[in-house]
Amino acid sequence: MTSLLIKRILFIGLLISSFSCVAKWHQKQFEVMGTLSKVEFEFNDSKQADILIEKVVAEMHRIDRLMSPYKSDSELSKLNQQASQHPVIISNELFELLEKSDYYSRLTQGAFDISFSSVGYLYDFRKHLRPDDLQIKALTPQINYQGIRLNKANKSVKFSSDKIKIDLGGIAKGHAVDRCIEILQKHGVKNAFINAGGDSRVIGKKNDRLWYIGIRHPRDEGKLIVNLPLEQVAISTSGDYERFFIEDGIRYHHIIDPKTGDSVRNSQSVTILANTSTIADALSTSIFVLGSEKGLELVNKLPNVSAIIINESGKMLYSDDLVSPN
Ligand code: AMP
Ligand code: MG
Repeated sequence: MTSLLIKRILFIGLLISSFSCVAKWHQKQFEVMGTLSKVEFEFNDSKQADILIEKVVAEMHRIDRLMSPYKSDSELSKLNQQASQHPVIISNELFELLEKSDYYSRLTQGAFDISFSSVGYLYDFRKHLRPDDLQIKALTPQINYQGIRLNKANKSVKFSSDKIKIDLGGIAKGHAVDRCIEILQKHGVKNAFINAGGDSRVIGKKNDRLWYIGIRHPRDEGKLIVNLPLEQVAISTSGDYERFFIEDGIRYHHIIDPKTGDSVRNSQSVTILANTSTIADALSTSIFVLGSEKGLELVNKLPNVSAIIINESGKMLYSDDLVSPN
């Protein structure tokens, strides 16, 4: 009888001690930049973990306040209000993101162009509003990244025309995810996942196993087309289902062809895997605009970049590195 009791006590003690060794995971979901975000990471000190979560949330909101085109007092709005009249000196952070945007514009021969907003600002997908033909005709020539003059010497920006407007919606979320990963890494976090809308990045593992991130079916919200096992990578999906409305059978959505001022209808979704979220974000928007043929041609030339494209007819296409040799 006594020995049974001792065995039981020992067993319960073992259970308690093995639970206390189980890694402590922390997570939070929150709204920022008009989208749902999530942070999840392993950290043993729960109090410190709560502080880290607040740092990540604050960082996302800080970047939103800096780069939102919808906040009239953001640094980006200041550019849209003043940069056609005189050079505007901006923060290093915004200047560097404008330089990166310029790099992707050149790399994609203008498919990625933050001045898409010169026409793009006239779309309101919630209210089902879009520019009329006259507006498109008048403003599309204003979409030209070369009209955004960057002066590295004093970190100033000047627009070549008063009709140019810029919007960093195609790259800012990726930048925010990278900054948040940096914060976690600086505090010793080894295993983490951060997501902002279609942009995610993972470091380390999830309980000694790979992370799994799904790509949703572009026409069936509840369905995944693939669930990818991932490690140490950023993944970004651009889809025509994120912000859109349908009028007379035509889908108007938030990814704009700089050549036409109209929504791009070559693809349903483009997923990019890359080393950082900034790269993955800029390229997912870019490759969406380029379409599967030109897009895969470009991705196949870029080191450490992979693509999964669902084209306009729903067919899945991959970059060469993902195609199995058989
Ligand atoms: P994503 O979901 O990352 O593809 O970003 C889509 C967002 O990118 C849109 O909501 C716009 O803010 C922005 N965008 C749309 N068209 C372009 C374009 N051709 N080049 C750069 N950014 C764009
Ligand atoms: Mg993007």
